[in-house]
Amino acid sequence: MYISSAFDSGNIEVLRCDSPEQIELNIKKDNESDFFQWFHFKLVTSAQQQHHLLTIKNAGSSAYPKGWENYHAMASYDRDEWFRVPTEFDGQNLVISVTPEQESMYFAYFVPYSWDRHLDLLQWAQQSAWVSQVHLGETIDGREITMLMVGEPAEGKKNIWITARQHPGESMAEWFVEGLLEHLLNEDEPISRELLEKSVFYIVPNMNPDGSVRGHLRTNAAGVNLNREWANPSLEKSPEVFHVLNKMQEVGVDCFLDVHGDEAIPYNFVAGCEGIPSYDERHKNLENAFREAYLRATPEFQVKHGYDLDAPGTANLTVASTAVGERFKCLSFTIEMPFKDNDDLPAPYTGWNDLRSSQFGRDTLRAIHAVIEQL
Ligand SMILES: [Zn+2]
Repeated sequence: MYISSAFDSGNIEVLRCDSPEQIELNIKKDNESDFFQWFHFKLVTSAQQQHHLLTIKNAGSSAYPKGWENYHAMASYDRDEWFRVPTEFDGQNLVISVTPEQESMYFAYFVPYSWDRHLDLLQWAQQSAWVSQVHLGETIDGREITMLMVGEPAEGKKNIWITARQHPGESMAEWFVEGLLEHLLNEDEPISRELLEKSVFYIVPNMNPDGSVRGHLRTNAAGVNLNREWANPSLEKSPEVFHVLNKMQEVGVDCFLDVHGDEAIPYNFVAGCEGIPSYDERHKNLENAFREAYLRATPEFQVKHGYDLDAPGTANLTVASTAVGERFKCLSFTIEMPFKDNDDLPAPYTGWNDLRSSQFGRDTLRAIHAVIEQL
């Protein structure tokens, strides 16, 4: 037997791999950080049709142990279709139980979104007459930070910003952006045409290229959590945020959606700006209008489950959505999707996955469209 993670977004440490029912693994920490939860590896076995037990020994000490409760690992034979496999968590060990039908199979925390696919997405989008690809700067490892500008800036148009994958292990965020872009660039889609008559989209599909390729859960190459850098980003520690915030300052922001995944909560939800100092009646009405439009746009969205609300004036202004909401006095949300499933619409074979994330991204355009005049 053999286990490899020496590829794009691979992450696993092999402790023991000599018997199919006693495979022992650890997840590696993000570089220069104590965060870990993302795993992605390939199992090669000569014991096809035999039962295998893969035990991740350090799961209980990961960043979000609650993320393993009722969680089922994802697996794939062809790296295209991913499905859930039986998984148990005893408080410390995460045990994946599987009978491989082929010589090798892949396992991951969630459907990976590769750096290559990211580069393909940029070039595909650029084929649209509505899109300009904008180079914003470079990461610590020397990768490009790229923004897609969709639509033509003009007086009176709204500036709509969408960022994804500040936390690189939350790969659903880039699947979300892919679905949103496919819909937005469809010339036969009336909602998209109307949106682009009234607004310009600034989309950063991957805010954390280094963390993505390194197989990190939460941080960039320097071990920095980018979603705590928005009060005072620096070129040394957080160039990704530094460059995006500079661009926001240059063009302005009327709506900001920062796309994430949540390890523990099995629902889609948003977190808003109720705790920022400048929060007022207008902001509140705008948020409510967006939530109501989102509920109408897709049954995958709900408002019962989510984070506790911030008390007035207590928002953490180092977080992207609150920092931008305060600075630009605009509609600004963190969007969270599950790693597990949406318990309102469970799908045991796939759980929440790439396709549902894309569809959710696409349906988000409807909610934006419904409030565009109020932004
Ligand atoms: Zn996140």
